[in-house]
Amino acid sequence: MAEKPRPLVAGNWKMNGLTADLAEIAVIRDALAGALGGPDIIICPPATLIAAAAQLCAGSFIAIGGQDCHPERRGAYTGDIAAEMLRDAGASYVIVGHSERRRDHGESDVLVSAKAEAALRAGLKVILCVGETEAERAAGHAPDVVARQLEGSLPSAPHGDSLVVAYEPVWAIGTGVTPTPNDVAEMHGFLRQRLAARLPESSDVRLLYGGSVKADNAAELLHLPAVDGALIGGASLKAAEFLAIAATYR
Ligand code: PEP
Repeated sequence: MAEKPRPLVAGNWKMNGLTADLAEIAVIRDALAGALGGPDIIICPPATLIAAAAQLCAGSFIAIGGQDCHPERRGAYTGDIAAEMLRDAGASYVIVGHSERRRDHGESDVLVSAKAEAALRAGLKVILCVGETEAERAAGHAPDVVARQLEGSLPSAPHGDSLVVAYEPVWAIGTGVTPTPNDVAEMHGFLRQRLAARLPESSDVRLLYGGSVKADNAAELLHLPAVDGALIGGASLKAAEFLAIAATYR
């Protein structure tokens, strides 16, 4: 059996954070300095803070990510940001297909896949999000929905190491409600099988759980054999809570 990949704890700040909040990143960097054997850490601040965050974390093992990118390299796309620009600002990852983008911006699987392609072309690693709504779960369609999103949103031929997949049930995001550990294990097992059928190097793809992860539920949700880490929204905004979640891997 392939060795389990190193765990990954990623924070998604969403549309939160001003310059003063970079202090939280500095606290995380300083707390983890010299700490060996913990999880990989990624922080995805808003685009306005990427360059400063990358500078703060230069020489540390904290990676910085964007929260979205445009599929094109450049052009007349007011307000958008190209993957190359994220890379140029110091990002090494980008989230694509977050449910808030799918819902609020009508992003289709085809568009998400094009964004993932653009990210790889720019030298970024991709955190691809999939997850069902409450109604889809209640109707018993959760596996079909996440399988369709996964297959439709994958970039063609990613190297395993360049792809991270986050299972984020929409009904768990920002609600304080989480699936049971059994539900998470089941969906991750299913996604792992789908990945294996699709990608030759899928054992290197880390499969994160996301949705209302907090310090007090991290141990039970993140230490399942099928889970390789977490994508964290609200609880990533304060260094102490984020560090407490990361500490469950020590
Ligand atoms: C997210 O939006 O990716 C997320 C996991 O949010 P939260 O942790 O706040 O539920």
